[in-house]
Amino acid sequence: MSNKYIISASDAESLAKSKGLSVPQLLPSLVKSAQDLARPPISNFHVGVVGLSSDGRIFMGGNIEFPGLPLNYTIHAEQFLITNLAAHGGGPKLLHIAVSAAPCGHCRQFLQELRGVSNTQIVITDQPIENPVYRPIISILPDPFGPFDLLDQEMPLILEKHDNKLCFDKDCNFITQNGDLSNLSNGHPESVKKNDGNLAGLALEAARASHAPYSECPSGVALMDCDGNVYKGSYLESAAYNPSMMPVQAALVAYMVAGGVEYDRIVEAVLVEKQGGMVRQEDGARLMLKHISPKCELRVIHCV
Ligand SMILES: [Zn+2]
Repeated sequence: MSNKYIISASDAESLAKSKGLSVPQLLPSLVKSAQDLARPPISNFHVGVVGLSSDGRIFMGGNIEFPGLPLNYTIHAEQFLITNLAAHGGGPKLLHIAVSAAPCGHCRQFLQELRGVSNTQIVITDQPIENPVYRPIISILPDPFGPFDLLDQEMPLILEKHDNKLCFDKDCNFITQNGDLSNLSNGHPESVKKNDGNLAGLALEAARASHAPYSECPSGVALMDCDGNVYKGSYLESAAYNPSMMPVQAALVAYMVAGGVEYDRIVEAVLVEKQGGMVRQEDGARLMLKHISPKCELRVIHCV
């Protein structure tokens, strides 16, 4: 598959060949297209990042800002890239990245959730040197604090297989935003009929694939647009906590990668999370959806 956010390995190879470049040498020339994917209405600062996975595919990310919400709901370009890579089975390694501006501290930290990232090669394309060159990530984040300051070496990291043991409680209740269980179609009864059961199942799948080793509170969100298409996102934690990606943010990344533009086309959402967990996504997901798609109905399913 090749689209604006993911270039297939064969397309990457032929594009590089047509320019007389290797695939890593091609990445800086794609940074401008990644910047065009950014949506920064607050800063107007377009960050674009392009990553080459060890499976040969190229993944893109841009920064996404949300007016009306606190700044910590922002999705940074590198977070977008890693979420895109993880959601589409990229990996197991991110080999090279080209980014339009020096990564902020938050992103340097989030990158630490990838095993062996210190050796990933990075090039920053806006630096005032004629031919920016690749250098290892360790050179821009020496002495990192990372997953293994808190976890055993064997614990799976982002881009590695996760299978959180979560399942629906036999008596699980769907809780709606207004407490009303009768009107779940939200004006789109046909779409809901097509995908409703699937939505809860996909949110569970996303929660099972979630990277939440620090809180042990995995979660996932599935969104449905008014055409009945569904998009899922897994919660991805950071060892430093704050750079974590909420599941609703990850599902929005999936929506955008699939070509979604207007957020208010999202009409249904399901969040699956652990019953009584120390870390909960429900309030954050509600706040975000209320601002970006006020008519979207959110149901929460607590798992055991
Ligand atoms: Zn950043």
